[in-house]
Amino acid sequence: MKKISILGSTGSIGTQALDIVSKYPERFQVVGLAANDNVQLLAQQIKKFRPEIVAICNESKIELLKETVASLDYSPILLTGEVGVTEVACYGDSESVVTGIVGCAGLLPTIAAIEAGKNIALANKETLIAGGPVVLPLVEKHGVKLLPADSEHSAIFQCLQGVSPEALRRIILTASGGAFLDWPVEKLHFVTVDDAIKHPNWSMGRKITVDSATLMNKGLEVIEAHYLFGLDYKNIDIVIHPQSIIHSLVELQDTSVLAQLGWPNMRLPLLYSLSWPERIYTDWEQLDLIKAGSLTFWEPDYQKYPCMQLAYAAGRAGGVMPAVLNAANEQAVAFFLEKKITFLDIPKLIEIVCGRFTNHNTLTPTLEEILETDRWAREAVVQAFQELAKGDKIMFIK
Ligand code: NDP
Repeated sequence: MKKISILGSTGSIGTQALDIVSKYPERFQVVGLAANDNVQLLAQQIKKFRPEIVAICNESKIELLKETVASLDYSPILLTGEVGVTEVACYGDSESVVTGIVGCAGLLPTIAAIEAGKNIALANKETLIAGGPVVLPLVEKHGVKLLPADSEHSAIFQCLQGVSPEALRRIILTASGGAFLDWPVEKLHFVTVDDAIKHPNWSMGRKITVDSATLMNKGLEVIEAHYLFGLDYKNIDIVIHPQSIIHSLVELQDTSVLAQLGWPNMRLPLLYSLSWPERIYTDWEQLDLIKAGSLTFWEPDYQKYPCMQLAYAAGRAGGVMPAVLNAANEQAVAFFLEKKITFLDIPKLIEIVCGRFTNHNTLTPTLEEILETDRWAREAVVQAFQELAKGDKIMFIK
């Protein structure tokens, strides 16, 4: 029986992780749950999974949560605020922590879990992108495993089982192409929030679905792959593969290429991040290549989707630059979801903010420097947005 805690339990990743627990109750037991706001769903999860500890980050919701669970026949520890979420991350004898929080809010709880000796089932990519220079040494120091739950990185991780690190030559990340693959570039001016939060192949939270539409998600994944697998950026490529059957590939020194395939569904990478190194039998629909039909591939359109190049540039700059990119993206996507800016303003704002960042002092920043940079970049987006709204002349992407 593996004991696990789930951060972001009410989201797309969190609910799918709990589906896995429901399917394999003899293998997994929930110790802790954490969410931000959704009391109703969190209360249902408490009733069903009976965790020892629960946190709701939004402090205004704690009384409602207490009332909602008061009638249960047991009393879980109930906490609130970021401190409460962090306490869940490092609590008790859970062996693995699923990081399903969206955004850089996942960074401190993930660090706390690592310091408490927990393995990380890593879905929250923003944690590694912003905090890579701090997170990786901690993983090493505490001897824990960072097990990727993102489908592309899980695919790479699966392909690399039994392969020595020196044998890896190149990583090829596949990308579905997002919601606007077939749209001409001129039409992107008219993208609505509703258009952007519909993904052709994957059902995910709103922020990552917008990231998929801008292809920033792929850019973030390039940085995530660099940190997880140690390759230089020149050896990490992106290829568009609209069917999302091949989840990513690795090329070895002798030019052999290994791929991992499956239907587009997060259940498998999530299960493997929890069961590794074991393979668990499932009755899920098996891949049928005949039914999958043609698998096609082409080069990404870097002009239409500038976010990928912005991510490569931030990754190559290293240090806190990926944290700038990540925070700028989070803030810009939040503005887009609030309908304050257009779809095409997202890369513009990110480029402006990355261009304004001058404090490239160190390639090995401290946690405080990363958090400070994250705050700076969010404020810089707000400022650039205000300038845009006033019609001030600022530099746009050519
Ligand atoms: P969702 O928006 O669906 O869910 C986010 C979850 O995080 C919710 O449970 C939310 O709680 C919770 N949350 C937000 N802020 C806090 C906080 N400060 N403290 C505690 N909980 C918080 O996102 P996804 O599940 O889609 O994505 C989660 C992460 O996984 C992202 O980093 C994403 O990039 C990554 N990922 C997701 C994939 C997917 O298929 N969804 C695939 C690969 C990676 P509440 O509901 O109460 O607001």
